[in-house]
Amino acid sequence: MRKVLSIAFVLLIPAMALAWGPKGHDTVAYIAEKHLSKKTLQKVTEVLEGHSLVYVANWMDNASHTDEYAYTKTWHYVNVDPEEGTYANSVKAASGDAVTAINALVENLKSGELTIEEERAQLMMLIHIVGDIHCPMHAGRKSDRGGNGTKVKYFGSQKKLHSVWDSEIVESAHRWGYSEWQEQVDRATPKQVKAMEQGTPNDWIEETVVLANEVYESAAKTSNMSYDYVAEYAPIIEQQFLKGGIRLAKLLEEIY
Ligand SMILES: [Zn+2]
Repeated sequence: MRKVLSIAFVLLIPAMALAWGPKGHDTVAYIAEKHLSKKTLQKVTEVLEGHSLVYVANWMDNASHTDEYAYTKTWHYVNVDPEEGTYANSVKAASGDAVTAINALVENLKSGELTIEEERAQLMMLIHIVGDIHCPMHAGRKSDRGGNGTKVKYFGSQKKLHSVWDSEIVESAHRWGYSEWQEQVDRATPKQVKAMEQGTPNDWIEETVVLANEVYESAAKTSNMSYDYVAEYAPIIEQQFLKGGIRLAKLLEEIY
C-alpha cells in the first residue's frame, strides 16, 4: 500500500518546466500575429488548419513529453555556464538546443519539401521556441538546470528561480490576459521595431544570456523577492515578450 501511495505521489509532481508559462507564449504569439502581413497570416492560418498562432503556442510543451516528440525535449533552452560566457562559446547539447532547433526549423519550412503534417508540427515548434529563447532562464546555467536547481524565496514561499521567471513575475506584475498584454506592451515605434528585428537567433540568444546572468545576480542578493523585485523586473519581461513577438513575425515573413 505504501508503495502504491508513493508512486501516486510521484505522478502528482509536475514535470520540469519547459517554457514561459502559457501567458508568455500566448502573448508572444499574439504580438507576432499583429505584426504579420495579411498574406503571411493567411498562409500561416491555412497551415494551422484555421487555428491562430495563440491556439498552438503551447502545444510543444505537451508534445515534448510524448514519445513521438521526445527528441525535442532539449529544444526549449540553451545552457551557458559562467566560465563559457556566451552561447557561441558554450558546449552544445548533442540532441540540439533552442537555437539550433530554430535555425533548422526555419530552413526546413523555407525548403518547401515538408509534407503538410510536418510543416504544421514544425511551424508550431517555431512559434513556441522563439518565445522560449526570450525567457531569461532558458539561457541559464547547466549546473543548476537553467535555474531549476536554484531555490529562492518569492513572497515568502520557496520557489525555483526558473519558475519565478517563467510565470510568477508575469502573473504578479499584471492581471492581464494575453490580448491585454499585447495591447499594453506592443507600442514600439516603427524605428524601434526595426531595431528589434535586427540580427539572427544566434544574436538574440546572447541578449538572453546577458539577462540570465543579471537574474542570477539579482537572486543572489535578494533574500525575499517581493513587490520591489516585481516592480524592478517586470519591464524586462514586457520587453522580452515584445521582442519575441516581433522577431517571430520577422521569421514568419521570411518563410512565407
Ligand atoms: Zn518551451
